[in-house]
Amino acid sequence: MKKITIAIDGFSSTGKSTLAKQLANHLGYIYVDTGAMYRAVALFAMQNGYINADFFDKQTLINNLPNIKLQFKFNADLGFAEMYLNEVNVETEIRTIEVSSFVSKVAEVSEVRAKLVEQQKEMGKDKAIVMDGRDIGTVVFPDAELKIFMTASATTRAQRRYDELIKKGDTVTFDEVLANVEERDYIDTHRKDSPLVMAEDAIEIDNSHLNREEQFELVLELVNEITKKV
Ligand code: C5P
Repeated sequence: MKKITIAIDGFSSTGKSTLAKQLANHLGYIYVDTGAMYRAVALFAMQNGYINADFFDKQTLINNLPNIKLQFKFNADLGFAEMYLNEVNVETEIRTIEVSSFVSKVAEVSEVRAKLVEQQKEMGKDKAIVMDGRDIGTVVFPDAELKIFMTASATTRAQRRYDELIKKGDTVTFDEVLANVEERDYIDTHRKDSPLVMAEDAIEIDNSHLNREEQFELVLELVNEITKKV
């Protein structure tokens, strides 16, 4: 069966990574979570004091981009690749609400996007890849054979993210998580460089009322139709 490129875009906490991982495991494809890459750059900026609640020194971050090395290393026990920042596993640190509160500001910086997009294109050059993010079908792989755009209401998404964070032992309130989801939606859809928009040829899936299995079956059917054709 011919290998294709699958681009999954959409709003925060729509379950993009869950679907992408299921597809990659089933198809034997590589899975790349581009949000983890932007989160790792935000963590780097936080660790070095370039960003905090009331300050962002963009220029110093831009000057230091050559000092950021991002890698995905497969963890066989977990069944997916974890994010490494300068050889350190940062998979846990990048998922905190603090990183979530800065990441969209970092992702607005064109120089950051250019560096990550170049790396993402390179990872997908042999196809057989499922990549999720905000600009995958529009900028990273405009020629992807399958483009999915995922949506769900902000409260449904905030509830999912809140449940995940509480399960991990984070002490956040639902309102904080909802405010963060809404703020990221706003910044992601309004930024100048590569705003979050649905590609013209993407298929929209609103999963407010779909469970994981239903969603997976739906997309797998699309994959099967396409791989039969190409
Ligand atoms: O997917 P996730 O919610 O982890 O992404 C974190 C943030 O990274 C997004 O809110 C967005 O600001 C940024 N991002 C992006 N482009 C991507 C992936 C993520 O701008 N391709």
